[in-house]
Amino acid sequence: MQRTVFRNVNLLDGNQPARPGTSVVVEGPSIREIAEDAALKSRPDDRVVDLAGRTLMPGLWSSHFHTIFSDWAPAQAPMLGLEAQPGFMALVGQDNVRRALDSGFTSLICSSSAYNIDHALKVAIHRGLTPGPRLFACTRELMTPGDQPDGSNSSWYMEIGNHGIVRRCSGPEGFRHAVREELGRGADIAKVSASAGHGVGPADEIESLSFEELRAAADAAHGRGKKLRAHTASKRSILDCARAGVDIIDHADRLDEEGIEAILAADLSLAPTLLFSTRFLAFLQGLLDQGIDLGAQGHLVESREEFQARIDGGRADFENMCEVLPEANRAGLRLLVGDDYGVISIPHGDYSAEFELYVDKLGIPALDVIRWATRNAAETMNVYAETGSVEVGKLADLIVIDGDPTRDISLLGNPEATVAILQKGIFYKDALGAGAAA
Ligand SMILES: [Zn+2]
Repeated sequence: MQRTVFRNVNLLDGNQPARPGTSVVVEGPSIREIAEDAALKSRPDDRVVDLAGRTLMPGLWSSHFHTIFSDWAPAQAPMLGLEAQPGFMALVGQDNVRRALDSGFTSLICSSSAYNIDHALKVAIHRGLTPGPRLFACTRELMTPGDQPDGSNSSWYMEIGNHGIVRRCSGPEGFRHAVREELGRGADIAKVSASAGHGVGPADEIESLSFEELRAAADAAHGRGKKLRAHTASKRSILDCARAGVDIIDHADRLDEEGIEAILAADLSLAPTLLFSTRFLAFLQGLLDQGIDLGAQGHLVESREEFQARIDGGRADFENMCEVLPEANRAGLRLLVGDDYGVISIPHGDYSAEFELYVDKLGIPALDVIRWATRNAAETMNVYAETGSVEVGKLADLIVIDGDPTRDISLLGNPEATVAILQKGIFYKDALGAGAAA
């Protein structure tokens, strides 16, 4: 079997600072050898590729990924997946996962989906029908009756049937049944909507899911060997999710010291998804400033002042998270990269902006954010023994970046800067040239 020998590599293995002057050998699906350039001898039949100091690193993970979202916006009165034909939504999903792979994401942990499209995509990718990352499929979003993520209960279309992205359940038995049934259709992770808030409005401290319902959902997922994630923003709900053993807490806008301690004690992961908050708050403010009447769209917004108060509340939650997140990172919380791409103002493909937000605006060290996008995600899905870092014996899920992302984080998630992509040792993208023979 021909080996590929990458020479003159700036190695970012996902854990340590960059190591220039390194060689990495890929054989079959795996990483076979890592050594200093001078210490590694290549064989006559090796394909030797001189990376000329470019960066080789683990393929990225996006850990809050809605395959089917595209231009989703409240001002357009969408029905959250109830309005489009399933076949069309599957094609949207196919386009989105290919775009993620083109941007260097070799793995995705999905967030709520509809019509089992995530699972269908996973099977299609596995069978080679369409290119795509390793995909952990998600269920629909399980919610209690009369609830929606922003807590406004004002959108009539949220209550239509049970066919799209939202499934209504009530009581511990209701959630246990729904989680089992949804996961039985092939998903790897179930999703519940545990509290109001995140971007769309303030995280009111009202109960969406009870602790007993959360606990039942988590137990049902774990009983089947699978995971549970939860849309959560209020303080009370963050603490409930930690106590219930939810595997991924999404958003967590009202995170504080107590929340950090609870999540650390329970050893859970957190996807802060702050690009959505900043973009969506600006989008809503823009609607208000233009005098657009959301009431005319069927939303129950009584006055301009009420709408402004909701935006201000959402902004306060966002600002809290900007302050707390660097602290949570320092405390060792297992944080994740990934966001609500496909919602209007945050299109799929705009992945670099998220890395820039965390590193350039919030001041979190680039190496830490790289770990969020590699090791932390692989650990969350219990596959770190086989992928998620560049180590001998692990799968060669690798990307080559034209530059050093620890100096310029905007290179990550950027298809132009991502000059090679390998999945299990096979080149999906190879813009490296033939490589000079040794
Ligand atoms: Zn989401």
